[in-house]
Amino acid sequence: MYTWDELETMLHQCSRCALSQSRNLPVMGRGSHKASIMLVAEAPGAQEDQQGLPFVGPAGRVLDILLASANLTRQDVYITNIIKCHPPGNRDPKPEEQNACMPFLRCETALLRPPVIVCLGRIAAQKLIDPHFKIMRQHGTWVERKGYWMTAVYHPSFILRDPSRLEETKKDFQSVIRKLQEIEDSKYPL
Ligand code: SF4
Repeated sequence: MYTWDELETMLHQCSRCALSQSRNLPVMGRGSHKASIMLVAEAPGAQEDQQGLPFVGPAGRVLDILLASANLTRQDVYITNIIKCHPPGNRDPKPEEQNACMPFLRCETALLRPPVIVCLGRIAAQKLIDPHFKIMRQHGTWVERKGYWMTAVYHPSFILRDPSRLEETKKDFQSVIRKLQEIEDSKYPL
């Protein structure tokens, strides 16, 4: 098992896919290394590529609003992406890029062992929950996989384009807190 520092060093040296040629900075996950909630989006955007940090642009401000609606801050969660390098033109990550980068996400998950994983958007949900996941119909639903409780919510960038989705996504975030409480209660049934 690698340490967090070793993982970040390997990330900066990574050339497992062609995005290593076009990226400015790879974007390692950020947040608490003791978090019970891991948020996983699809890929860094252009501003993230410049700063090497996840969710620093307008979508990051939406994410902060969603976290606040569940009484959470970035220090309470760990935020990462399926792929760690920005795809040019903000295109969707290709399957081969996702596959090449998955070992980093697996290592982050193994280090964190979060009881709850929240996919931000369709692409993360289709990679981690179900290849046929329909985000419009299935957001806010829960499945258990290998001891992790997983759900998906709309990506903050989608909410920027359609602000009418904000309130239902706040409810989905609030359900994350309820799920954590259920998990905690199930450990102590009496
Ligand atoms: S996207 Fe992932 S696999 Fe591809 S170069 Fe970046 S860190 Fe490596």
